Amino acid sequence: MLRPIKLAAISLLRAGGVFSLVANSRWRQQRLLILCYHGVSLEDEHLWRPFLYVEPQVLEQRLATLKKGNFSVLPLGEGLQRLRAGTLPARSVSLTFDDGAYDFYRKAYPLLKQYGLPATVYQTTYYTSFERPVFTVMCSYLLWKQRGQVIPDGKSVGLPGPLDLRTDESRAAIVRHLVETSARENRTGLEKDEIAAQLARLLKIDYDELKAKRILQLMNGRELQEIAAHGIDIQLHTHRHRTPDDEGLFRKEIQDNRSTIHALTALNPVHFCYPSGVYRPTFLPWLRKESVLSATTCDAGLAERESESLLLPRYVDHQRRTQLEFESWITGVGDLLAVRRKASQKLVPGRG
Ligand SMILES: [Zn+2]
Repeated sequence: MLRPIKLAAISLLRAGGVFSLVANSRWRQQRLLILCYHGVSLEDEHLWRPFLYVEPQVLEQRLATLKKGNFSVLPLGEGLQRLRAGTLPARSVSLTFDDGAYDFYRKAYPLLKQYGLPATVYQTTYYTSFERPVFTVMCSYLLWKQRGQVIPDGKSVGLPGPLDLRTDESRAAIVRHLVETSARENRTGLEKDEIAAQLARLLKIDYDELKAKRILQLMNGRELQEIAAHGIDIQLHTHRHRTPDDEGLFRKEIQDNRSTIHALTALNPVHFCYPSGVYRPTFLPWLRKESVLSATTCDAGLAERESESLLLPRYVDHQRRTQLEFESWITGVGDLLAVRRKASQKLVPGRG
């Protein structure tokens, strides 16, 4: 359905009382909505990547809606247990945040405390101890900051010819070139950070200022310890935010991720989230061997009792979602209208 028509139809459903009817139905009570967030803007990140960020005021509006509507916001582990046992309370929701960026600590965590809501952070850990901006996303952000320009010469960062920053595609091509060169030359994290610093210089951006603000950095060990001590649930997202096709390398990502989280927080994480939402059927037995109890995707849907535990759907909320869309999903109407989800999950053998 075309988006404006769909939104108009959803608006009519809300006006007609369908939202509360579905929210209070037995059908909805048997399902868990797992909400997915990525970043919460420290500054202008939601303008750069509106599908991955929300402004803090949008997040606050969502939390206020959950509170006001008497939604049962459950810790993820409890939500999943009660889903299986068939004992979910009415209007169940679990909150998850991917990656564990510093902006979670600075923006989301205080709001969660204020509203008294539990949440899970799927923490990727390489940049937890290496306290520098995440290289790939920082390069993309720097280029976006100077969008519209053409830089005459990219030699200082090893790029031939002029740098065209005028389109999403041309900027993405520059990032790809920087990432591929770094991989080919086996650059260390420090060397990559120096490239990012040089790129910032070339673009006349104050890199030290960005670093001081901790934009595009992850939470460090001390911050992770603090949020874990205050009840935030820390779970698995791989050590280096990647899912290799080789079993040994894939399982090492889980092991390194788990041991880093355990060393810092004494938690033993058993819930997993696929980095970038990418999953393959071959991953499932590898996750089972690592004693992973659940895994979430970015496929839209409510989790059902019969859902495969290692392919749980979520609803990804971000800056471009309207409040109406958000409400349609927490009530369950959005899931009823999302017909494509079932088709996408049929790709997995043994289901559907
Ligand atoms: Zn991620």
